[in-house]
Amino acid sequence: MAIDTGVRERTVEDYKSDEKPTWCPGCGDFGVLNAVYRALRIQNFDPHRVVAVSGIGCSSRIPYFISTYGFHGIHGRTMPIATGVHVARPDLKTIVFGGDGDAFAIGAGHFVHAMRRNLDLTYIVMDNAIYGLTKGQTSPTSGAGFNTLSTPQGNPEQALNPMLMAVACGATFVARGFSAEPQKLADLIVDGLNHKGFSFIDVYSPCPTFNKVNTFKTYKEAVTPLPEDHDASDPIKAMHYANSQDPLYLGIFHQREAPTFGDQIEQGHSGDESSRQKVLEGLFSRFS
Ligand code: SF4
Repeated sequence: MAIDTGVRERTVEDYKSDEKPTWCPGCGDFGVLNAVYRALRIQNFDPHRVVAVSGIGCSSRIPYFISTYGFHGIHGRTMPIATGVHVARPDLKTIVFGGDGDAFAIGAGHFVHAMRRNLDLTYIVMDNAIYGLTKGQTSPTSGAGFNTLSTPQGNPEQALNPMLMAVACGATFVARGFSAEPQKLADLIVDGLNHKGFSFIDVYSPCPTFNKVNTFKTYKEAVTPLPEDHDASDPIKAMHYANSQDPLYLGIFHQREAPTFGDQIEQGHSGDESSRQKVLEGLFSRFS
């Protein structure tokens, strides 16, 4: 996909909207927004050639704070909206945002199918392991035993591992970042934006207001970069590192080339260029 990168060198200020972020002081989402600004500047995208699509939740306010086009959607339906935008306007760069509740609970089905379709989208999930907007309930990435308004006697469920899920569902780019490391996160986002196909970036983005377990301090003590010799093309090795709880790895776990959803459509759904003509001829004869 050709992206118009414009004719002049842009600054971070070019990507800031007039709206000031409304997150609580100390929210991890500030670091993600900072990284997104940096990534957009590195790419030097024309803001008018970018669409930010989000769902519902604290993190999903992010399109208001970016000077691109934006679509603040409905809970869990981020991916269908982003799919529609991308399919209708593949010439634009569509970036998708959400939180762990939006992505891995009500939106989990859409997430799975976006990955197996290999849509050419970048999905940034601000994962704070809690529902912040509704004042602190257990989310799919909350750990077992976690005590919240919705689990006052402790969470009886195991946490979902989004990295394992993404590799298993066929995502062609799977990475994890940390909002306290905005430059490293910006570099990951740039890699995701430059990847042809579905890029998923899970970001540890703590909610200091409602989550006193998954804190900046906890993550700072637990995270470490993936080994330099990690072979990201190997999904089994990616799953090995994704499964680790101590340490928690950051970086690109998995990346491979595969036809995108757009490629498949272009080639008549079969991967065979010649079949496209047959599909068109069949349609014309059916309706003539
Ligand atoms: Fe951030 Fe939590 Fe406040 Fe929401 S409730 S803005 S996630 S700190």
